[in-house]
Amino acid sequence: VAEIGLPDRTEITTCAYCGVGCTFRAEMRGEQLVRMVPWKDGKANRGHSCVKGRFAWGYANHKDRITQPMIRRNIDEPWKEVSWDEALSYAANEIKRIQSEYGRNSVGGITSSRCTNEETFLIQKLIRAGFGNNNVDTCARVCHSPTGYGLAKTFGTSAGTQDFDSVEQSDVIMVIGANPTDGHPVFASRMKRRLRGIDNRPPAKLIVIDPRRIDLVKSPHIEAEYHLPLQPGTNVAVLTAMAHVIVTEGLADEEFIRERCDWDEYMEWAAFVSDDRHAPENLEPVTKVIAKDLREAARLFATGNNSAIYYGLGVTEHSQGSSTVMAIANLAMATGNIGREGVGVNPLRGQNNVQGACDMGSFPHELSGYRHVSDASARALFEADWGVAIDPEPGLRIPNMLDAAVDGEFKALYVQGEDILQSDPNTKHVSAGLAAMECVIVHDLFLNETANYAHVFLPGSTFLEKDGTFTNAERRIQLVNKVMTPISGMEDWEVTQALANAMGLEWDYRHPSEIMDEIARLTPTFAGVNFDKLREEGSLQWPVNDGAPDGSPVMHVDSFVRGKGRFVVADYVPTDEKTGPRFPLLLTTGRILSHYNVGAQTRRTKNTVWHKEDVLEMHPSDAENRGLHDGDWTKLSSRSGETTLKIQITDRVAPGVVYTTFHHPATQANVVTTEHSDWATNCPEYKVTAVQVSASNGP
Ligand code: SF4
Repeated sequence: VAEIGLPDRTEITTCAYCGVGCTFRAEMRGEQLVRMVPWKDGKANRGHSCVKGRFAWGYANHKDRITQPMIRRNIDEPWKEVSWDEALSYAANEIKRIQSEYGRNSVGGITSSRCTNEETFLIQKLIRAGFGNNNVDTCARVCHSPTGYGLAKTFGTSAGTQDFDSVEQSDVIMVIGANPTDGHPVFASRMKRRLRGIDNRPPAKLIVIDPRRIDLVKSPHIEAEYHLPLQPGTNVAVLTAMAHVIVTEGLADEEFIRERCDWDEYMEWAAFVSDDRHAPENLEPVTKVIAKDLREAARLFATGNNSAIYYGLGVTEHSQGSSTVMAIANLAMATGNIGREGVGVNPLRGQNNVQGACDMGSFPHELSGYRHVSDASARALFEADWGVAIDPEPGLRIPNMLDAAVDGEFKALYVQGEDILQSDPNTKHVSAGLAAMECVIVHDLFLNETANYAHVFLPGSTFLEKDGTFTNAERRIQLVNKVMTPISGMEDWEVTQALANAMGLEWDYRHPSEIMDEIARLTPTFAGVNFDKLREEGSLQWPVNDGAPDGSPVMHVDSFVRGKGRFVVADYVPTDEKTGPRFPLLLTTGRILSHYNVGAQTRRTKNTVWHKEDVLEMHPSDAENRGLHDGDWTKLSSRSGETTLKIQITDRVAPGVVYTTFHHPATQANVVTTEHSDWATNCPEYKVTAVQVSASNGP
């Protein structure tokens, strides 16, 4: 206020950082944002916020914003600023040229979980209807794609089962592979409120399964009943050992299972987990979790009345990410913890619109609403509406696009709102793939690392410059309202529409509400969603349709989306990433409260005062063995590459494990991460890398 003056207008909108989806009142003076005030009626945040949503919006007016489209025929040439028409017709002609020269499948696109539902829907439509293939993927590929696979297999749809309010009815809360205090701070506050005890009810009990002693394990008035500090990469073994205890000690809820699940599949799974090799004592050498603690935690979870599971990327970003999601679902079904308040399986989505991007059909095998492209009746709906044939064959995932590019078969990529060179694993391979393409179109706010390989740059718009909707981690669809004029002159959905028009598609949307009308027409779970209703209600949780006109806070209440819940045997398979004499430590990664992912936005705000560099956490015994002291520069090396980081000595990590955040480009965390990925979805195994740490003189 002191810098800009008093606001002269306000607008309600939704935070564009994490999957909590806090509502804010943007206070404006002319075209200048004065401040963001958390909105007391926000259903996800109830007037609360964290330091990202509240303070980290200065990137919208940062001098690094690119405001003019640019092209260059060769990546060695300097960029040339051009008009929107010239940039879009150049991009459209290049895509057409490449397809006529190399075939229909030589091009594709990547959407972002940071964009609105409407923008994401348009990107996949452009690729399916304009490019004529299914080569569309989203950055959820590298975070929650295993959630999509695992929950679809077991429950029938890829979504968290509860709303955030539900946590207030929980008696036992199990947090696995998530650090809500840093990653989902406003929801963490609600969870902590329940853990401290509310409404004269005794506090919920807490189980934390994480290699690192996250803040939640012990914070003011909260102490976890059990912290199981497992060896990175052994989630499935831990969950199977818990299931072993529940089944062999007669703690499974057989009444629920008989009524709601496939009994034969349960019996097969129960026989599998009951095997003696899955006893906590026999798995202790693998998991490094004390068997007695694991047994007691399993008993607590099974007998806790209302037990809920919350998980994050520490579950999904593993070679067994999908198996872990299914193991979690098995545990919830086996104990009858599905279909009412206080229980359930709750993926904590990292980015603001991971849920929405997945809902909108931005995977190469699925149309919006999670219908497989091979489903002829689903395809027919889209074909009738769009007037084009949809390819029944799934397209390429992001890593497959890059592999195909290296092999000379994939030549053009449209990437919106994701810096794949910085975010995706194995940086060398990503750059080789990008370098091999003939046309890379980057649509973003800043000249990011991927843009080093781009031929066309289309300036993007921030959430403050656009209308649309985001869907948060509890399936809550909320409006994003434009508070300032896009500084490039175009909202992102308009750019995609203009590119489609340049390719010859006759699109004529006048506002994102018309795109939502199309989404509702083609997507049964969104059938009752429209902008007027969203304005009236404030938000809606899908499914919203004739069966649930006011939305669905809790899913799978009377039956699972797939009918009977399905137990899937998920056997523990050790990762191929092995420690050994050269690389004896395991590196795992995470986030800090004040920054967001690779920091493209938060590093361009005043939040930099809180966290100026990433550091490497190391246990005192490992540091002593290497003669390292707090604050020393170290070389962090793996089979993929090496980087330098300062060390922080702490017993938050166990001996043999090191940990870093990845918010600053200098950290180059993905130079050291591996090529391993989830067996079902190719989600990268960011959370387990065998490394060595040694003294260094610095970068
Ligand atoms: Fe934004 Fe998430 Fe913070 Fe809420 S908790 S203000 S949605 S970053």
